[in-house]
Amino acid sequence: MASPRRTFLAATAVGALAAAPPPTAGVPRPRPVTDRPVTARAALDRLLAGNRRFASGRPRHPHESAGVRRTLAAGQHPFAVVVGCVDSRVPPELVFDQGLGDLLCTRTAGEVLDEAVLGSIQYGVEELRIPLVLVLGHERCGAIAATLGHVRSGAHVPGHLELLVAEIAPAARRTRAVPGDWAEHAMRAHAAWVRDAIRADPAFAPAQVDAARFDLDTGLVSLLP
Ligand SMILES: [Zn+2]
Repeated sequence: MASPRRTFLAATAVGALAAAPPPTAGVPRPRPVTDRPVTARAALDRLLAGNRRFASGRPRHPHESAGVRRTLAAGQHPFAVVVGCVDSRVPPELVFDQGLGDLLCTRTAGEVLDEAVLGSIQYGVEELRIPLVLVLGHERCGAIAATLGHVRSGAHVPGHLELLVAEIAPAARRTRAVPGDWAEHAMRAHAAWVRDAIRADPAFAPAQVDAARFDLDTGLVSLLP
């Protein structure tokens, strides 16, 4: 029996997004993209291999051709959800050397979760059958820095930033006394918390959920324990 969430998605425009339109008569159909990873392990391997190409300065920029674009016009089959930060230095498609139709990305400052983000991830996992969700934190994150400033000073956080700081603050407080780089510890703890929150939600049970850290200096992504 379909879950209430799934029924909701299927009954709304979100469900309609997953449906491919019928092929247009007389228009040659481009060759479909057939090399999509279907397991979480293969999806993770694909991401990390692409990241190594990116970090080494030898990206392939796959799946950007007009043919791929035309194929994808009929329907999408991304193989990974990336829950990342809005930071302009960490665009998932570039960092993982992927192209059109490969990744379903949600990006908020400090990869903070809200209901819109969770609904978007659910769309990917339930409707698009994506096997992998990767939470991607990064070093020198502005949202983390702002949160540390707030925890340090107790100063009021203005406007919409309040939600971001409130979501990151528990990780900042937990790691305040840990020797070393507080921002780094807080970023890792927060990304792991986001991963665990997604893992604990039954809506995402079909997917493997991991967390990772992007190094701005080397360009490399490493999985968090
Ligand atoms: Zn950031």
